[in-house]
Amino acid sequence: MKPVISIITPVYNEHECLPTFFKRVIPIMEKIGLPFEIIAVNDGSKDDSADILKAQCEKDKRCKAINFSRNFGQQAAFLCGLKNSSGDCAILIDADLQDPPELFPEMIAKWKEGYDVVHGIRKVRKGESFFKKFTSSLFIKLLTKSSGLDIPANSGEFKLYDRKVIDTICALPERSRYLRVQIAWVGFKQTSVEFDREERTEGKTKFTLKKMLKTAEAGIVPYSPKVLKLSGKLGVLGGILSILAFATFTVLACVGIALPLTAWLFPTVALATSVILVSNGITDLYVGYLYEDVKGRPVYVERDKLNFED
Ligand code: UDP
Ligand code: MG
Repeated sequence: MKPVISIITPVYNEHECLPTFFKRVIPIMEKIGLPFEIIAVNDGSKDDSADILKAQCEKDKRCKAINFSRNFGQQAAFLCGLKNSSGDCAILIDADLQDPPELFPEMIAKWKEGYDVVHGIRKVRKGESFFKKFTSSLFIKLLTKSSGLDIPANSGEFKLYDRKVIDTICALPERSRYLRVQIAWVGFKQTSVEFDREERTEGKTKFTLKKMLKTAEAGIVPYSPKVLKLSGKLGVLGGILSILAFATFTVLACVGIALPLTAWLFPTVALATSVILVSNGITDLYVGYLYEDVKGRPVYVERDKLNFED
């Protein structure tokens, strides 16, 4: 039977979480009573997540799995799940169940009311460090400012997408993928439901500081030329500061406090050099993303698929 609802989860080394995930999600979906599929996208896990998914797929044909050839990242895994989904709507949820599947009925009710996107909004984030909460909220503010789009504060990837939203997102040609920005860009009728985010009870976060920084860059740079324009602004700022430095130097010389030229040489050269380097660095960021897009390589590579035969 064709699924009405697709549940999509990205999996990276989640062998502790997967048994609980299926145990908690399946009864909730059965209670909702609509045909469903659960698509787990294994993002190149190095543990035995693939074996757990295989066993689950053999036991229950409503569970499907896609194994990537290597680790391509959470965004690529969600995109792959969306591309392979066949439900009239899809709910994106992390495998660690920090976002509660108990919220599915409320999200589906909103969808039935006619909303095309339902955002899960975190009222409380239990067990997350001040650093994680601070950087995450700063990141959303930066995303909103740089893209000029309305990205709900305290939202993650936990959302419901209607089929027309899924098709629009999947048809976007860009290689750089950041769903939180893309979903804001596509528009349609959007609403939200609130929940308390739980602590991760099994396993550890897979987002190291390096991965968080990479994700932040991938969410901001490809979606807005604003950062690129910043290099020009930095150049102007550097110019103004240099003029001020020289003006001060001249005024001081006029009132008889002449500093040796070498005292000014170092800050002036350092300022000019840093402005040039920062400007070049920003341009390089964009060139890097353009380079990736021009290559036209796929966002991910599937190694194999389970239970997608029909
Ligand atoms: N994940 C992934 N690929 C990665 C990193 C994470 O598919 O390279 C998955 C992970 O298995 C989980 C979700 O993305 O289902 C969110 O990861 P995590 O819980 O570690 O992030 P946090 O909640 O700490 O931000
Ligand atoms: Mg988590």
